[in-house]
Amino acid sequence: MKPNAELISIGNELLSGRTLNTHGRDLGAALFSIGIDLTRDTSIGDHIDLIKSVAQDALQRTPILFISGGLGPTIDDITRDALADLFNRSIQQHTPTANYLEEWYQKRGRKLNSIGLRQALILEEATVLPNPIGAAPAQRIDLPEKKRCYLLPGPPNEFNAIVEKSILPELKSQYVHLTPKLFRSIHTRGIGESDIVERMQLQDISIPQGIEPGFYPAQGRVEIRLTAEADLENELEHYHNHLLKLFSDWLDRPEERID
Ligand code: ATP
Repeated sequence: MKPNAELISIGNELLSGRTLNTHGRDLGAALFSIGIDLTRDTSIGDHIDLIKSVAQDALQRTPILFISGGLGPTIDDITRDALADLFNRSIQQHTPTANYLEEWYQKRGRKLNSIGLRQALILEEATVLPNPIGAAPAQRIDLPEKKRCYLLPGPPNEFNAIVEKSILPELKSQYVHLTPKLFRSIHTRGIGESDIVERMQLQDISIPQGIEPGFYPAQGRVEIRLTAEADLENELEHYHNHLLKLFSDWLDRPEERID
């Protein structure tokens, strides 16, 4: 069966308007490229009980859970404590990570203190995924029923680098049958969403089964985006061409015109 994934982003700053949460967008695009849908993106504050209950709920629905933020050395970094409690696992010092941190700090002319060393704490039986550009590594926790939970650091460049370098390759090799979804867009200008939908409904050709339409308006333009599984390529192509003709008077990009 095709797996879906969910993301929980942790941090008070994501809810107070101080930091724009970019992880959902970046992770959604990364997973889409290998054929996995990100079906939920939840932001929560730094509270142990909240982290536990939201993670527990998510794991009822999804086999792949991403949790980001709160893995650093400071006292508000409580993610690993919350999950250790939830999964009933101890927290252990990971010696190779401690050595890596020592070197990482040394290269930057800094000394690793006991607070920085907290970044080498990992959950019992977790697999450490290296952080190619930062200090705190990510962790994969394998759970019963082939479920898994990835804990990732919050800084977006580190989050994205670990997803790209470690997580996408391992998901691709585990779910070998997955193919990325296909999508096609029609960019219109000067016609509103409701008129677009009405014109589509008045046609003899209805939206083929398995093709999901999305309508994205912005500043006088509407992008109609069609998404489909890879085995519907012909149907998608055919319906895309149909819409290009149907909206030929409103195409925002003349190069898309087919007559
Ligand atoms: P660190 O070791 O740097 O403390 P961490 O894993 O503890 O990392 P946080 O402390 O939660 O992560 O966040 C580190 C930085 O990344 C902060 O500036 C935070 O605002 C930013 N950040 C965290 N989550 C997100 C997110 N979802 N989108 C964008 N920025 C984020």
